[in-house]
Amino acid sequence: MSLTIVPIDCGTFTNVERSAHQYLSGFGEKRDAQIIIWAILGGPAPIIVDLGCGTPELVEERYGRVLGQTPGQRPETALKAAGIDPEEVRQVVLTHLHLDHCVGLDLDLLPNAEVFVQLEELRYAAAPYPPHEAYFDSAILKKLLPIQASEYGGIRVVKGDFRLAPGVELIHTPGHTPGTQAVLVDTDGGRYAIASDNVPFGSSQRGRTLREWTPNGIHVSLDQCYESLSRLHALADFLLPSHDPQVLERRIYP
Ligand SMILES: [Zn+2]
Repeated sequence: MSLTIVPIDCGTFTNVERSAHQYLSGFGEKRDAQIIIWAILGGPAPIIVDLGCGTPELVEERYGRVLGQTPGQRPETALKAAGIDPEEVRQVVLTHLHLDHCVGLDLDLLPNAEVFVQLEELRYAAAPYPPHEAYFDSAILKKLLPIQASEYGGIRVVKGDFRLAPGVELIHTPGHTPGTQAVLVDTDGGRYAIASDNVPFGSSQRGRTLREWTPNGIHVSLDQCYESLSRLHALADFLLPSHDPQVLERRIYP
């Protein structure tokens, strides 16, 4: 069995403040943030990591924001173009509950999937610090909070590191949010980390030592941001950033 990782392009938020993604860097500078759904293929069933933020209609209606998305970037179309049969997906990992990673859940595209979220993320999303409130979506939380999730039976709450499938491991990497998790994937070309917002852009980690890292501008603990980056570097050969259009230059990893 040889696992591969496919980044699926689901659109772009343009003119995003760079300092929001890269701490104390590039104030006033704008850049594009790509919305990416990841597929891990080659195992018994495809595994999906993150669900993006849905469609431009959904984003406009809920947040009054503009999501750039072509018809081919609509999640249902993009998943199928990547060769994924939605019925076959059994596991979805939400790396954290910021809206650009999870609101796609409301499209109900994957009818047979269980959704894996960290306990600490659910706790924080229920009562975040006020500057972070706008990044969470109350409709999604209603679906996910176990105490009221009877209408959505597929939620699986995990605490800490968790072996999801052969060659696929969830790694709890707090800092950006308390329950951010990365996904380690063992491939024939080395061990990859789908790094989530620990590493939004390739330029957030220009090397393997501390001075070459720029933590996410949005965080609950700078200490934890550095510890999580350090851990990812110790565990993985390659880190795949969460919002960098450059990762789409390759169709498949490795
Ligand atoms: Zn985030």
